[in-house]
Amino acid sequence: MDFDLCLKAPWIIPVEPRGQVLRDYAVLVRGGRIAAISPQATAPAAAHTVDLPSHVLLPGLVNAHTHAAMTLFRGLADDLPLPQWLHEHIWPAEGRHVNGDFARDGSALAALEMIRGGTTCFADMYFFADETARVASGAGLRAALGLVVIDVPTAWARDPEEYLSRGVALCDKWRHDPLITPLLAPHAPYSVSDETLTRIRVCADELDIALHMHIHETAGEITQSLHTHGMRPLARLDRLGLLHANLMAVHMTQLTADEIALCAERGVSIVHCPESNLKIAAGLCPVTALIAAGIPVALGTDGAASNNDLDMLGEMRTAALLAKGTSGDATAVPAAVALEMATLNGARALGLADDIGSLVVGKSADLIAIDLNAPATQPVYDPLSQIVYAASRDQVTHVWVAGRALMRDRHVLTLDERAIIGRAGAWRDKIRAHDHGGIS
Ligand SMILES: [Zn+2]
Repeated sequence: MDFDLCLKAPWIIPVEPRGQVLRDYAVLVRGGRIAAISPQATAPAAAHTVDLPSHVLLPGLVNAHTHAAMTLFRGLADDLPLPQWLHEHIWPAEGRHVNGDFARDGSALAALEMIRGGTTCFADMYFFADETARVASGAGLRAALGLVVIDVPTAWARDPEEYLSRGVALCDKWRHDPLITPLLAPHAPYSVSDETLTRIRVCADELDIALHMHIHETAGEITQSLHTHGMRPLARLDRLGLLHANLMAVHMTQLTADEIALCAERGVSIVHCPESNLKIAAGLCPVTALIAAGIPVALGTDGAASNNDLDMLGEMRTAALLAKGTSGDATAVPAAVALEMATLNGARALGLADDIGSLVVGKSADLIAIDLNAPATQPVYDPLSQIVYAASRDQVTHVWVAGRALMRDRHVLTLDERAIIGRAGAWRDKIRAHDHGGIS
């Protein structure tokens, strides 16, 4: 046989070209890559064929910003503004509980949730990234590993120098893994000094890797920067040479027209995390203006402590609805654009667009199938509309990364679901016992 795998579905949405829906086509896979996309009637035979009679096939979703291990803090502290949430709850809890075991178990829970929701690639930013890389690689998930640098000491590193040296060591360790892409992740302008940012820039240039950073998340961040540095965070990052095509700027809720033009000119990628921004009342990313300026906007869930799920289908719907509501224009971020944000633009932001993000011959076979044979997604006039505006992640039935099946008929094949959920419960007991004096 010339082909390893043949996936047949009534609808295939390749994402490129935008808005296209192929009727009764098949995707043929060889050596983990998409070898052909052809009408079912003339599709050649393959070693294995999967018939998906009421499904839509599309590229795997790319979650361009999360903190996977933080799933273990899901629901720990809600309904609080960002500074209070971070300083009074999250950072103290991290100080008490985060270690390698936490990162492993939290990342496994996240990997399980992401596979079940159709995410095949995620951009992470967290401590003990070695554990996250091991979990992702073992589960067959693609991960962009954000190696954190922050001025605050943690169990992972004492000072910026140690964060950087540990990050560089992990970068060397993982950069040749086909599923792992290392990134340097300065936490945010308010938590990393000028001196450290300069060293990070030099390091990223030498290693030729991208930067992944929270920027302009809240209005308070701008006020504080004006007070401390006499300039807005973006101006400061520009002065330090960080605004370039290898920068993934996450959040960006506070932007002037000049800043939008500057980001477009420098080729900065922007990652929109609408649900996290809404929940923390951080402000809203001006997505329609960014798109109009030609900036590729990707989508991320952010961590489960501030979202509180890693549901990219839900995130896509929120992004589309929010763009319409805030712009007063119902044509803003149509379904095809929302899907592009959740797939190809994520791949672009990560520098992986030659390999993933759309169903194109030669790209890696990272695909998901969504079963539309459910009351919520019937009848089907337009499968693109159903996916963005009606489908739930429970309708994702199959997931493949590089041609390997990670989930088949809702059964995750590469992770032990029961053990992972058991460990999450054990962490809940431990964290709650500590934080509430043993009262549960
Ligand atoms: Zn974040």
